[in-house]
Amino acid sequence: MSFVTNEKEAFKKTHLTWTVIFTFSILLVVAIAAGIIFVAEKNRITRQFDGELMRTLEFIEKRLRVPGMMGMLRMMRELNPVFVPRGEGFQFVFPSGEVFLEVGEQLKAPGTPVKEGFSTEGNYRVFTKKIELGDTTIFLRVGRDMSDLIERRKRLVSMYLLLLVFTSSGAWIFGYFISKLALNPVKIAYESLKRFSMDASHELKTPLTVLKTTLDILKYQKDLPEKVKDKLSTMEKHVNKMIKQVEQLLLLAKSGEPFKSEMREVVNVKTLLRQILEEFKPKAETKGLTLEIECPDNLYLEVQKDALRTILENLIDNAIKFTEKGKVTVGAYKDSKLTIYVKDTGPGIPKKEQKKIFERFYRISRNTEGSGLGLSIVKELSQKLGAKVILESQEGEGSIFKLIF
Ligand code: ADP
Repeated sequence: MSFVTNEKEAFKKTHLTWTVIFTFSILLVVAIAAGIIFVAEKNRITRQFDGELMRTLEFIEKRLRVPGMMGMLRMMRELNPVFVPRGEGFQFVFPSGEVFLEVGEQLKAPGTPVKEGFSTEGNYRVFTKKIELGDTTIFLRVGRDMSDLIERRKRLVSMYLLLLVFTSSGAWIFGYFISKLALNPVKIAYESLKRFSMDASHELKTPLTVLKTTLDILKYQKDLPEKVKDKLSTMEKHVNKMIKQVEQLLLLAKSGEPFKSEMREVVNVKTLLRQILEEFKPKAETKGLTLEIECPDNLYLEVQKDALRTILENLIDNAIKFTEKGKVTVGAYKDSKLTIYVKDTGPGIPKKEQKKIFERFYRISRNTEGSGLGLSIVKELSQKLGAKVILESQEGEGSIFKLIF
């Protein structure tokens, strides 16, 4: 099943895509740059914390080297309450792992072998150093509560996230306007191209009509040699084709202009379908195809009738053109919405082609007669009528084009 969109939506989509790309690019640059700064800052405050821890340890170590201090320490084992700032603590540990003196906050006992350097133990950052005091080896461990450091790190992360939120909203607003500005020249070029094809089609219509009338007059001249008659009918075929294409181009060029509300009228759907099918009877009969209507009598729709007629004519014309045997069914039904459909028993349309066939001048094969404009007209006019076009098709099983109002 494929849904159909038009230029307006294409512009909207492009606008949105550019805004998203702009926002993500800015966000990526800011996220990387700020990320580097924040990681550096996090490392700096951790290094600063570790530096202070090292200095405390060195201070204690210096004191330890005062003669007789070891003996004093042994005495202090029993007189523990030595003043140390809150949140700090230190341990004297033998290489066996036995803690022989602990001061201040209680640190965990180290495992064996006792390792030197920095470690994080619970809420404490601990620095351990091996100290030789004469013939005694001890490990001095200094620990400090990390709550403050953790709080500062958390604040850094929140600032980082906040920066990303502000950047993305700022970039979105800025990107929205920038991409709108960037799209403006494209829109202007598109509009002028549209105006050009409208003017060109208008200019071509008059000479083509004159040519057609002249050919009609010539055709009915008496005593024309067979060869000339043949040439005239070939010319007529091509002129008719050109007139149809010019009309289609004009229709497409005008498609951006909205319908006026007074152009709407209430139509009986079945009557309209019957009238349109009548036009196609000769064409279907030459191919041996059956034409069918499946529609309740009392189905009404308020719509711009000529536009709906053009849409259905294009769909039925295609259905007959591409179907070799079987039938073409035109129908309508109403559930929550009113749906009008054209169904055929033709070759079906491959999945990968289903979006493309609504593009201008796109034809799956060049072997059939046509310009590739019919379905783009269907798409444009349906959009103007406020209807959604849905194509359901399986290769080899036929196609169904639905208009949902
Ligand atoms: P045209 O009919 O003038 O070629 P359209 O825009 O109406 O142009 O259709 C585009 C292409 O879509 C056709 O060339 C054809 O390949 C395919 N197509 C349209 N309708 C049908 C259908 N009912 N069954 C099979 N193919 C179809």
